[in-house]
Amino acid sequence: MSTSFLTTTSLTKTYPGGGGVKNIDLDIQQGQVTAIIGASGSGKSTLLSLLYGLQSPDSGEVQFKGERVWGPEEKLIPGHDAMKMVTQAEDDLNLFARVRDNIAVLLPNTDLKAKQEKTEKVLQQLKMLQLAEKRVTDLSGGEKQRVAIARALVTEPEVLLLDEPFNQVDTSFRDGLQEDIRQIVKDTGLTVIMVSHDPAEVLSMADTLLVLRDGEIIEAGNPQKVYNDPQYLYTAQLLARCNVLTASEAVVCGIKTQNEHVMIYPEWIEPAGGWRKHWKVKQVLFKGFYEELLLENRGVTLRILNGQSGKYGEGSRVNVKIGKWVEY
Ligand code: ADP
Ligand code: MG
Repeated sequence: MSTSFLTTTSLTKTYPGGGGVKNIDLDIQQGQVTAIIGASGSGKSTLLSLLYGLQSPDSGEVQFKGERVWGPEEKLIPGHDAMKMVTQAEDDLNLFARVRDNIAVLLPNTDLKAKQEKTEKVLQQLKMLQLAEKRVTDLSGGEKQRVAIARALVTEPEVLLLDEPFNQVDTSFRDGLQEDIRQIVKDTGLTVIMVSHDPAEVLSMADTLLVLRDGEIIEAGNPQKVYNDPQYLYTAQLLARCNVLTASEAVVCGIKTQNEHVMIYPEWIEPAGGWRKHWKVKQVLFKGFYEELLLENRGVTLRILNGQSGKYGEGSRVNVKIGKWVEY
């Protein structure tokens, strides 16, 4: 029988103020990226710190390769030895030392050759060779974040825990860093668990997506499934700037429902021709290779995707074709 990699059973931790996590049962797969998404305050950081052993649960437990993960009361140096955690904080970086030394300092001096080789390897994996001789203080926010991740990886942990690490990083840096981390996962079998409230961070990174609401996992699956068929409106709203209509607003879109709400992603709606152009274009939001249109009809606003940039202007009248929607 093969033991599970990283699991939790009925993991519960409640703070005196009431926040925390409740009855979390997880079975995290080795060599995958697992992303946990949830609103601010939903318990993401708490869950991560429990997995790592920085906090002890009130009840339930975390097991890594069949053994219980110890909390801070039971362990001299907090945090599981086979795991590393990166947060947004830069506190651990020595700003006035070179990038290379910030990374190498984490390795023992007992084998200097290995120390140099491992430092070189992680610099290469994270595409930082050209930054190696710079002082950390001279780096951009995104570059500093790369150093923090390199420091976590140089000791070759089995699990990398990321707590909204790309938050302060601008888009182009973020995409590159995400690609590099995914590549490391593929090449080395590293297991990554990341938490975020940002869809751009999780949708492209994750093999498995878990949705956390008020301390509980409410749905899980691969990102395509969770995005295309969200079981909760909460999930859709975390993952996209979706249209949420009440039942009476939905009627304006030609949708009759017995449920309270109708959710439609912008890309599920197409502008259409025909003579019944009930919708008025209120705003055109240029996005580069596509644009978003904000439409209005009888007090209802719709955000829709338009692939043919430049076709409509403010005040244009259009019809809409709604391909799909979900009712809640
Ligand atoms: P997230 O990372 O999803 O924003 P957290 O896990 O940090 O959420 O926090 C979950 C809830 O628990 C929040 O309501 C927060 O205020 C509360 N909380 C977090 N840490 C503590 C703490 N050390 N003491 C008391 N309450 C806390
Ligand atoms: Mg947090």
